[in-house]
Amino acid sequence: MGANVAGRHQVVVVGGGFAGLNVTRALDGADVDVTLVDRANHHLFQPLLYQVATGILPPGLIAPALRGVVKRERNARVLLADVQDLDLDRRTVGARAPDGRLLELPYDTLVVAAGATHSYFGKDQFAEYAPGMKTIEDARYLRDAILAKFEMAEIATDPVERAEWLTFVVVGAGPTGVELAGQIAELAHTVLPRVYRSADTRQARIILLEGASAVLPPFAPKLQAYTKKRLEEMGIEVRLNTLAVDMDHQSITVKGPDGLETIRTGSRIWAAGVQASPLARMLAAKAGVETDRAGRIPVGPDCTVPGHPEVFAIGDMVSLGKLPGVAQPAIQEGKYVGRVIRDRLAGRQTPPFKYFDKGTMATIGYRSAVADAFGVKVTGFPAYVMWIFIHVLYLVGWGNRFGTLYTWARALWLTHNRGNLLISFQTAQRELAEGHTPVRPPTILPRSTRPPTPDAEEAIPGAPREVGGTA
Ligand SMILES: Cc1cc2nc3c(=O)[nH]c(=O)nc-3n(C[C@H](O)[C@H](O)[C@H](O)COP(=O)(O)OP(=O)(O)OC[C@H]3O[C@@H](n4cnc5c(N)ncnc54)[C@H](O)[C@@H]3O)c2cc1C
Repeated sequence: MGANVAGRHQVVVVGGGFAGLNVTRALDGADVDVTLVDRANHHLFQPLLYQVATGILPPGLIAPALRGVVKRERNARVLLADVQDLDLDRRTVGARAPDGRLLELPYDTLVVAAGATHSYFGKDQFAEYAPGMKTIEDARYLRDAILAKFEMAEIATDPVERAEWLTFVVVGAGPTGVELAGQIAELAHTVLPRVYRSADTRQARIILLEGASAVLPPFAPKLQAYTKKRLEEMGIEVRLNTLAVDMDHQSITVKGPDGLETIRTGSRIWAAGVQASPLARMLAAKAGVETDRAGRIPVGPDCTVPGHPEVFAIGDMVSLGKLPGVAQPAIQEGKYVGRVIRDRLAGRQTPPFKYFDKGTMATIGYRSAVADAFGVKVTGFPAYVMWIFIHVLYLVGWGNRFGTLYTWARALWLTHNRGNLLISFQTAQRELAEGHTPVRPPTILPRSTRPPTPDAEEAIPGAPREVGGTA
């Protein structure tokens, strides 16, 4: 295995997500220099993004700074830059720094782990009306968007208009859609009723659309049936075999078993599809291989790009066997590639990558989840406990683990205190920018409000009493 003119073997890792971070960590102390380049300065724990979007967790707890995460790895450095070119002949990575300057990073070994992005299945115009959730900015934007609708519902006096502000449509009932819909329902039906005076947020409609015939399509039928029943008990309208066919800033048109229907709504959220990072397509074109329908590049059993043993591609952007685009393959591939690089330096052979399936799980809402792990299918509270354990375990850093447990205790278990329901006039104004909402006549707010809201226990039996937060 060769070395760069600088002397030490240079490893460039593109992407500090689950895959890229695990390669970097696996190379701690190895006789290589690692440059980890990412266009975000943090490692994002995407499975908990929906909790940022619904005001449960602050962003920092699920997105520790990469520099801090690798601070003890003396052979690793972190660069904030957007990778735009991969030159496999010259063995360089071209990236753009935040001030626009171009960076050229020479490598002996390249690891590309740039993840995935949203897919609107060819209807890219939907992106303007139905934001998705992949980055911390997306989650913060969604939180602003959701909170702005509740604020508008409080101001609106026309019941029809108020109902539109209080209608939330989530497109896609995979784990992300289910978790998001569940938390919006909890927010509307349990957390907010006692802090809004005019709008009765318990009237909020949360509609979950799914094109397939069941929610959580990859899960076992028993878990799908449980999830659907639980969502409906939470007051969520689950519509199966239903596709989003059109949308604008005030509505969404769906096609289901009963034909076409246009639903008036201020909020559409996209949780339906993903496609590989554009870097997968670039890499495939340079290596002369075809990507699959999701834009993923095929890699060999050692995670290398065909014809380029010095280039690895891992995580969500690759197709390897039939592995799903979830965290475990990315983590395990990252660790494996670190091992291959070490073995090569030591002149050893590494056996092909072998995936260890640890199962899948999703939360539904209040103390309820489904899990399929080690051949056992679990529902309800036991699954919820498993979900907590796994998610806390995989968060990076003890501070974030304890911080998350403490925040969950306040927000979900002991009280309904969500401390991150923050929005300002400017943010709401941006979200509701001209053109997004029809121009309306002045609203004269009546002096009185609706009668005091009964306790939230009505919505969820057994729920504790305290509510609030720094809304
Ligand atoms: C909302 C949501 C919920 C999820 N829930 C679960 C779950 O419950 N369980 C589960 O197992 N999986 C879940 N997943 C999937 C899981 O998060 C991914 O499979 C995993 O993150 C893939 O890891 P990765 O390293 O391949 O990509 P990522 O974690 O996406 O990391 C890619 C990194 O590359 C960087 N990058 C991309 N392009 C460039 C560029 N041009 N230049 C520089 N840097 C770049 C990005 O900034 C990012 O840091 C969820 C995903 C989402 C979006």
